[in-house]
Amino acid sequence: MELEQARQYVADMQKEQEYERRRHRPTANDNMESEAKSMIRVWTFWCDDCQEDFRGLAFKTSHQLFGATIAVYRCQCPYCDKWAVRHITHRDEDFYFYKSSKIRKDRNMFKNDMLQPDDLGFRNCYGRPDLVEENRRVSAACRRYEAELDKGFHPVI
Ligand SMILES: [Zn+2]
Repeated sequence: MELEQARQYVADMQKEQEYERRRHRPTANDNMESEAKSMIRVWTFWCDDCQEDFRGLAFKTSHQLFGATIAVYRCQCPYCDKWAVRHITHRDEDFYFYKSSKIRKDRNMFKNDMLQPDDLGFRNCYGRPDLVEENRRVSAACRRYEAELDKGFHPVI
């Protein structure tokens, strides 16, 4: 009986340890922060004041906010000396991706290739491919009609 109680105690303790291990495991943001280098020679930034993209030496800065790790790369703008920031963690909140003209240009590079028939601008690029067959049929009928006119037949209307 005592052996059974001891086994149950050990099983409960192991279960509790496993629960604690899972509770304290590093989050994805913690992993991103720990894997990021403390300094990067060249990284792209966006300066709000100059409205310019620039590349420069980036330094990592980490903060703790309510237990969450927030890490950013900082770089000084070469034109106005203001500090620009890029997120290492929480990348979905990095405004660089919304503001940078370089990113905007990259996104629109293949815009015309990706146009779908219902999209605005499709007809300007590709015309009306759905009417090509119909146009061919109509022009063939016109040619036949003109050929009949040349032979002397007159249409009956
Ligand atoms: Zn600037």
